[in-house]
Amino acid sequence: MAALRSVVGDAGLLTEAADRAAFESDWRRLRSNPALCIVLPRSTAEVAAVMRLCADAGIAVVPQGGNTGLVAGAVPVADAPQIVLSLRRMAAIRTVDPDDDSLVVEAGATLVAVQEAAAKVDRLFPLSLASEGTAQIGGLVSTNAGGLQVLAYGSMRALVLGLEVVLPNGRVWNGLSTLRKDNTGLDLKHLFVGTEGTLGIVTAACLRLFPAIRRRATAFVGVVDVAAATALFRAAQARAAGALTMCEFVAGDAMRLVARRVADARPPFEAPAYVLLELSSPDPDAPLDRTLEALLEEALEAERAMDAVIAQSERERLQLLRLREEISEAELAEGGAVKHDIAVPLSRIAETVAAIEDLVAERFPGCRPNIFGHLGDGNLHVNVLPPEGRTVSDLGDLYGTITEAVEALAVARQGTFSAEHGVGQMRAASLARFKDPVDLDLMRTVKHALDPAGRLNPGKILRAEGTIPRDGASSGR
Ligand SMILES: Cc1cc2nc3c(=O)[nH]c(=O)nc-3n(C[C@H](O)[C@H](O)[C@H](O)COP(=O)(O)OP(=O)(O)OC[C@H]3O[C@@H](n4cnc5c(N)ncnc54)[C@H](O)[C@@H]3O)c2cc1C
Repeated sequence: MAALRSVVGDAGLLTEAADRAAFESDWRRLRSNPALCIVLPRSTAEVAAVMRLCADAGIAVVPQGGNTGLVAGAVPVADAPQIVLSLRRMAAIRTVDPDDDSLVVEAGATLVAVQEAAAKVDRLFPLSLASEGTAQIGGLVSTNAGGLQVLAYGSMRALVLGLEVVLPNGRVWNGLSTLRKDNTGLDLKHLFVGTEGTLGIVTAACLRLFPAIRRRATAFVGVVDVAAATALFRAAQARAAGALTMCEFVAGDAMRLVARRVADARPPFEAPAYVLLELSSPDPDAPLDRTLEALLEEALEAERAMDAVIAQSERERLQLLRLREEISEAELAEGGAVKHDIAVPLSRIAETVAAIEDLVAERFPGCRPNIFGHLGDGNLHVNVLPPEGRTVSDLGDLYGTITEAVEALAVARQGTFSAEHGVGQMRAASLARFKDPVDLDLMRTVKHALDPAGRLNPGKILRAEGTIPRDGASSGR
């Protein structure tokens, strides 16, 4: 502790239980374990010094960003001497270069801060998700975060040009390149994107910027069923090509839940399912409204769509987006949900949703599927609500059984059990269950090469095989 204090100062070391508490529990309050202390360095040099001290003392290090991750990856595991290393005091925008369309930022900056820094020089940083006010660049890189505009711009992996990383032994890798092309051996930055802080501490990132958006057209469309939703997505892709920047799916039941549970959030009309579509362009004269209207007319004539509204102002646009964003809050108010983050090939979305509805009705009677997600990416949040009047804590052992069944259903359809949230602690057993042994061996080999003592974020992603954790006793946020 004294050695750590000499590196980060009094303000950079939290040892009291009350000060540690918020760093020790994950956002969903599903995992909570003590850390020896919370360390908050202010520079890359301090991170490196902390890593060297921990290596010498045999102490594990849990990197933490905004702690908005949904798989308990940024909080301690049970029974290990470990510190939480929070990057929140390293939040500077180091450089913004509109000529290079790049920005270099420290890991602790929030996504909103990066979006705003890009906007100031008339550029767009396109990553966008509901946690953007709190989620930090280091966390977003380490989870390869996705969100609302992946179908146009890709997930975080596609937006990272370079990284600066402190390795488990305290060495600093400076890979802050702004180059778009560099075929000189292993592209090392990809070792750290999406690996959830198990291979190194991201201290800074060089990010790719895009032209600022000057025109948008946004529609909320009621469709007759899930197949009609995917047909609408395909039609939008064919008509709007690169201008299609958002295509979200919301099942009718999920929308009704929002209407019931969230004040001032009402869908403009009733439908079996909904699609939120957005076209955008840097060209202020782009005829996006006309394209969107033609698309919707076609869908109405083909009787795939039943009704639609097009936002007439930014205020109306935000109201439509809010209908989609409030689903998690509505679930909470309803007593929580067993959450999943599956992806399947686009061609199998409709079949998958039908199979999930059948599965829940047959095996978990009374439970209620609540399905929404990033349709354009084949990524569905398949959440299962407890029976009416119950909370998710009442599910007990059923919690894990539901997860096993939903994940198996996705994997059986050439899908994945974790599309964008990662593995962390919550999906480590699923990884062991579903991944090919060769995949697992390769992952272990890489982990061992970079972190032979297993001191960086232990118990995350790779761990001994086990059962799906039973999280029913939690609040189920
Ligand atoms: C309301 C809400 C909506 C969300 N919507 C989406 C969505 O649409 N798409 C999506 O992909 N995710 C979504 N998420 C999940 C979450 O916001 C993302 O996973 C985000 O990337 C986490 O960032 P964070 O800074 O909070 O990371 P944390 O939760 O702090 O950490 C996440 C992981 O990264 C590691 N880590 C953190 N910082 C570093 C670092 N500097 N170096 C190395 N490792 C590090 C941690 O150890 C942990 O394993 C949502 C979450 C919430 C609460």
